[in-house]
Amino acid sequence: MSLLSELLTAISTKRVEVVDLTAPLTPNTPVLQLPEPFSNTISFQLEEISRYDERGPRWYWNNIHTGEHTGTHVDAPNHWISGKDGPDVAQLPLGTLIGPAVVLDVTDRAAEDPDFLLEIDDVRRWEAEHGALPDGGWLLYRTGWDTRSGNAGEFLNADEKGSHTPGISAECARWLADETPLAGLGVETVGTDAGGAPALDPPFPCHELLLGAGKCGLTQLQNLAKLPPTGSVIVVSPLPIVGGSGSPARALALVERDG
Ligand code: MN
Repeated sequence: MSLLSELLTAISTKRVEVVDLTAPLTPNTPVLQLPEPFSNTISFQLEEISRYDERGPRWYWNNIHTGEHTGTHVDAPNHWISGKDGPDVAQLPLGTLIGPAVVLDVTDRAAEDPDFLLEIDDVRRWEAEHGALPDGGWLLYRTGWDTRSGNAGEFLNADEKGSHTPGISAECARWLADETPLAGLGVETVGTDAGGAPALDPPFPCHELLLGAGKCGLTQLQNLAKLPPTGSVIVVSPLPIVGGSGSPARALALVERDG
C-alpha cells in the first residue's frame, strides 16, 4: 500500500483522528480590540448575494467581509515591521504549513492568573519531559482560553487597564524566535501576544521577535485538549492572499489513536 493509501485507511478506520482546531466564523467571532488611536479590524460578516430567490432562483451564495486577522488566522512574517521584508501570506513555504505539532499546556496556571506569561524555564521543563521542540514544527500553547471563545467579553477579558489574557514573556519569545527550529507558534487567544504585551519590552514580543525571525503565528485555536503533547501533525491552510499579512485559516491536526 502506498503511504497515502495507508494514511487514508488510517483516517477512515479512526486510527488517525482529524481534529478541527478552528474557531467557527460568525459575526460574533471575537476580534482584537486595539485602543485609540489605532485602527481596528472588522468582524466577520456574510453579505447575501442570492438565496433561491429572484436574485438567483436556484442558488445561494454570499460575499464575505473579513479582516485578514479575523478568527482563527495566520500571521505572516510581513505582518510586523520586524518582518516587513519577509514572506507575505501567499509566499509562505508550503513545508511550513504542514508539520509536527507539540502542545505545551499551562491551563491551570492561566486559570489562576489571566496575565500568566510563559518563561524559558517552562519550555525547558517541557523539553526535559517530551524532547526538543521539533524542527519545522508548531508549538501550540494551550491556556484553556478556547473555553471562553463563545463570549467576546470573557475572551478578551479587558478592563480599564487593558486586556488580561495569557501569553509569553519577552525573554521566552526571543528564545523561541532565535534558539528553536520552530516554524510557528499557535495560541488559543485572540493574538499570539499576551493581553498585557503592550507594556512588555519589546512591546508585542511574539509579533516583534517571532515574525522578525521568519516564523508564523496562528491564533484562536480550539480543541488543543484533544492533542497529545507530541506526535500529532498540524495542517494550516491560510488563503494565498497576494501581498497579504495574514489570512483566516482552517487548522487541522492529525492525531494517532491506539488501534
Ligand atoms: Mn494576527
